[in-house]
Amino acid sequence: MDKQKLYDIIETKRPVLTALSDKIWTYAELSMMEHRSTAAYVEVLRSEGFNVQENLCGIATAFSGTYGSGRPYIGILGEYDALSGLSQEAGITEKRPLVEGGCGQGCGHNLLGAASLGAAIAVKQAIEAGELKGTVIFYGCPGEEGCAGKTFMARDGMFRDLDAALCWHPGDVNEISTGSNAASIQVEYTFTGIAAHAAGNPQHGRSALDAAELMNVGVQFLREHMEPKCSVHYSFADAGGLSPNVVQPTAKLIYMVRGENVRKAKALLKRVDNIARGAALMTETQVSSRQIDGTSSTVSNEVLEQLLYDNLLAVPLPSYTQKELTYAATLKTTYHTEGLPGDRTEENRTVRAFVAEKSDNGNAAVNDFVIPYVPSNHFNPGSSDVGDVSWLTPTAQFTAVTWPSGCPGHSWQIVSAGKTTFAYKGLIYAAKVLAGSVADLMTDHILLEKARAEFRAATEEGYDCPISKDLLPTIG
Ligand SMILES: [Zn+2]
Ligand SMILES: [Zn+2]
Repeated sequence: MDKQKLYDIIETKRPVLTALSDKIWTYAELSMMEHRSTAAYVEVLRSEGFNVQENLCGIATAFSGTYGSGRPYIGILGEYDALSGLSQEAGITEKRPLVEGGCGQGCGHNLLGAASLGAAIAVKQAIEAGELKGTVIFYGCPGEEGCAGKTFMARDGMFRDLDAALCWHPGDVNEISTGSNAASIQVEYTFTGIAAHAAGNPQHGRSALDAAELMNVGVQFLREHMEPKCSVHYSFADAGGLSPNVVQPTAKLIYMVRGENVRKAKALLKRVDNIARGAALMTETQVSSRQIDGTSSTVSNEVLEQLLYDNLLAVPLPSYTQKELTYAATLKTTYHTEGLPGDRTEENRTVRAFVAEKSDNGNAAVNDFVIPYVPSNHFNPGSSDVGDVSWLTPTAQFTAVTWPSGCPGHSWQIVSAGKTTFAYKGLIYAAKVLAGSVADLMTDHILLEKARAEFRAATEEGYDCPISKDLLPTIG
């Protein structure tokens, strides 16, 4: 089909999409608490004629909108959760919270979901007009920041029937995301001891805080003996009371273990569990543990990545007004970054030379170019719940420019940029790239079969869900 028609539909829907994005920016709801955001999405999906399913997998803020009939089933993933402590006025170049201590869209998820929905609307209208054949499903995926919502949805049966899934993330470059992420598992350890006067009768006390400290020391010694690509992070969720003259009867640690894949993350977790037990034994305290969440490693799909790249090149890049460029340049002066933009830039000489030239050695405020795609088995030590989707259906993703070059992730700058005409241009661009890619998958069956063959080969060992059967998502 003529993709210009899809792009035109998205242009027509620009007011609906930017209004939705602004609403989600304003609501700024935390993980699994995205009730107003969900209502806003469901309202648009219904008015656009999608068949809406709410409460997916028993999660109040997970939903889907489906249109079409028969194969291929193509999924488009959307997110909408915010981050705490990042409330910020929009469109200004200084840190100024709207609500002191409030939440903000510091990862650009207001744009992410709205662009994904825009693509779904365009594809839906093309199916309706008889220009495309198949089924498009928009997935509202909650809790990306807080609790790996997609992992819960993956465990409970979502995504399996799809022929492919596509998604994107707001960013400072137009680039294909490739390679693999680490798998992760988060666990809370609670130590329980016996309170006593720390000087008067310490022999009767058993310190949960000592146990927590010993656990951290034990894990510190474990680090030398871990498999490559593994990492362990921790935080104190509770260090007992505030009085040093009390033997602390409670302490809580949150651990995140990461491995190259779920099997390795689970194996590492067993060793951390043993250290927790050892710390409890040494201090004569009790320890219990509770899983919080987990994510799988990402399975990349070069066929789909090439498809997204072709569409990144096919859609005209946004051009910016002088006012937008001045805003971007001023915002860029509020933080310090070094090096060239792009995740993959350092890996490949040709790519590096291209990016250096286009970005004025990283000094440009706006990266208004597409970074060349080179398939890579690069390992990213971070984790994402898109990984779980990628074990169930061929999946690929890209980033598109919605904020100035080098903006730090999860920052007030991203919240400021997220409700500006600068960001809307990235939203519309991403929607067109996604819609064009879905159109290709619905018309080129050989391409889709190639993507599926690559997926089957890469996932032979099967999906090993990183969370337990009965685990419920953490709210907030
Ligand atoms: Zn984020
Ligand atoms: Zn994000």
